[in-house]
Order: sequence, then structure tokens, then C-alpha cells
Amino acid sequence: MKILVLNSGSSSIKYKLFDIYNSSFDVLAEGMVDRLGQEGSVLKYDRRVEDNIISEKLEREIKDHRDGLKQISDLLIDPKIGVLESSEDLNAIGHRIVHGGEKFSGQMVIDQEVKNQIKSLFDLAPLHNPPNYTGIEVCEEVFPGIPQVGVFDTAFHQTIPEVAYRYAIPESWYTDHHIRAYGFHGTSHRYVTEKAREFLGNANSKKIITLHLGNGASMAAIKDGQCVDTSMGFSPLAGLIMGTRSGDLDPSVPIYMINNHNLSAGEVDKILNKESGLYGIGGDSDMRDLEQRMKKGDKSASLAINMYTYRIKQYIGNFTAIMNGLDTLVFTAGVGENSDFIRKEICRNLDYFGIELDKNLNSNRSEMVRKINSENSKINILIVPTNEELAIAQRTYDVLER
Ligand code: ADP
Repeated sequence: MKILVLNSGSSSIKYKLFDIYNSSFDVLAEGMVDRLGQEGSVLKYDRRVEDNIISEKLEREIKDHRDGLKQISDLLIDPKIGVLESSEDLNAIGHRIVHGGEKFSGQMVIDQEVKNQIKSLFDLAPLHNPPNYTGIEVCEEVFPGIPQVGVFDTAFHQTIPEVAYRYAIPESWYTDHHIRAYGFHGTSHRYVTEKAREFLGNANSKKIITLHLGNGASMAAIKDGQCVDTSMGFSPLAGLIMGTRSGDLDPSVPIYMINNHNLSAGEVDKILNKESGLYGIGGDSDMRDLEQRMKKGDKSASLAINMYTYRIKQYIGNFTAIMNGLDTLVFTAGVGENSDFIRKEICRNLDYFGIELDKNLNSNRSEMVRKINSENSKINILIVPTNEELAIAQRTYDVLER
């Protein structure tokens, strides 16, 4: 069975084609269309030929999503460099959909009803759901008759109880305008939770905190495999300090800036999403650059990193309290998987919670799921590489099998 996974964003389309055979998911090809509709648009295409990966970077005009998906499809079935016999060789398409609102707690075969519901959520996720939706509509044209499945970033968080997802605002804001915490990165939190529980056994992983630390960053509290709280909220702006997003902030700050400093709501929105976080404090959004500067004694880089790890510690305390305990911490995504320094800073002075890293295990590099806590640590500390595309392919496969 062959499944194409698509992440259709506002200016890019990422794709990965899986071949599923005897429950193993092999990647046949992957890549992205970048700078859609802009000057310098480019189509990247990596394909597997036996055990080698052959990469192509094709600079060409790509006008819009339709054009981008058509060009991806043409490449995949190209007689010389394609990996499919024809577009009918494809069995399904799995779409990453950012916002599923309260309607979707799992993956869904996309029919007209599901499309209408995704559309009805445009107001809640104006940057993400419209291009996700365009991806679905264009696939109906480019891959006619191929089943499409939606996998929602919010779905895994639908088990969060009302006491945690409601905000203390007038009830009508919730009932009339759907203002509540939804949580995001759910596909990744779910994937690493399942891997951690496979690795440790369910009895040793009843109370997990997952830390997805990439450019965007969020944490989730997982009890017996079900999400009970998460750091992102109504939007992906809440919670942790991120590359360019502020994370939690007194809600009166944006109002104050609009009322007293001549900023429009749109400008404040842009600043909190794109010019805040690590970048706002330390002038860089990339953790590697900040670490290097901190090691050379740069004060603003140090402050950015210290604030970043301080916020994460606050959430470890928060989630440990609401679960009445903790047995496992799971690090994932770019920073979580790769930065031994940030992991060390996060785990430092948490011995009250029984969290203790092993210095050597923490600095070893590997692509595998691995344990990095000391023998004395009461808490398992794991690194679990995330793989959102694989998770979407698996969810898509599950729906089709059912
Ligand atoms: P995205 O949210 O875009 O998928 P990633 O999960 O790829 O992001 O994470 C990107 C972040 O990971 C960047 O801040 C980058 O600096 C950081 N990162 C990647 N490798 C390392 C490393 N070796 N040390 C520190 N940070 C790293």
C-alpha cells in the first residue's frame, strides 16, 4: 500500500510518500515545494533508489497550491525519476490538519461533511486551516478517486478535562465563540507517548510529561496514555517560550500596547508570533546560535536560554502536580532531541522531583529511542525522536484498514 502524506501550509507544501509492506513503513520519496507563488520558488525531491537517496532541487515557477501539487504528482509518476507507475498507484493521502476544534478527536476519512467542518474552523486557525483545506481540494483534482484522510493536531488533546481546557472568562465566550484551550502538536505528543510506553512498558509509564521542543514548542501531561493537559491553548501562541512566539503572557499586555503605544491589533499579533520568544529576548530564534553565544558570555543569549528553561521547569512542576506524580519525561523535536545542553539545564536542580540525568548518556548521539537518566533517578528520562509524517501515515493506514 502506498500513502502520500501532505502538510499543506500557506507558502509551502511538504510531502512524503510511504510504501507499507508487512507493517513496515518505508519512505519512497519526500520533499517540499517552498516559496509557493513567490519569486525563487523551488521543488525539492529526494527519492530512494535501492539503498541510496538521490536529491533533486528544481528551481521553477510554482504559481499556487494547485500548480505545486500537480508538479509533485508529475514528479512521482515521471517515467525516468518517478517512484509510482501512475497516480492510481497511490492508495491514500493523509493530510496534516492543524485545527480540528471540538469536532475531531481522531483521524477521519475526508468527505463533504468533514470538509465543511474544517472550513467552519477557519476563524479559529486563519493561518493554517485555509491552506490545509486548499491541499484537500486540489488533491481531489490531481489525484481523483484516491481516499483522503485528515489527521488533526488538536485531536490527541480532546481527552483533556473541562477543568483544564476552559478559561475563566464569561461562559458565553465559550458557548458562542468556542474560546477554550485546544492544544497543538498532538500528532507528535501522541507518537512519542506511544513509543515511550512501548519502550518502558505501560506499568512504568503511567504519568508522562512530553516535551516537544522545536521552533514551536509545547508540553503535554499524559496519564495512562491519555492527554490530561497541555501548554498550548486557544492558539499555538500559549505556553512555552518558543523561537519567535512569546508563550504565556499577562493578557493585559497586548491591550496596554494597543491602547497606549499606537499599535494595531494586527501589529501586536505579528510581534507576539514572529518577533518575540527567544528572538525577542536574545536576537536569535535558532537554539544552536544562542547556545554558541551564551558559551562566549553573551548576556542576552544567556537570558533567553535561562528564561526558556525556567518556563519549562514551571510546566514540569505544574503537570507533576495535576497528575499527582510523574514517572517519565520525554524529550523530542529539534532542541529536545539534539541539545544535551538544554536538556541538562532543564533537568538541573530538579532532584526534589527525583529527576537526575546521566551526563554521559545525555551527551551520546543516536537516532534511537533511549534512556538518559542516571541509575539513581526516580524518573525515567527518554529521548524519543518524533516523526510526524510517519505518524500521519500510520493514522491514515489505520483508518483505511478499519
Ligand atoms: P520545527 O518546529 O520547525 O519542526 P525543529 O523540530 O526542526 O523545528 O527544531 C528546530 C530547532 O531545533 C531550532 O531552534 C534548532 O536550532 C534546534 N536544533 C537543532 N539541532 C540542534 C542542536 N544540535 N543543538 C541545539 N539546537 C538544535
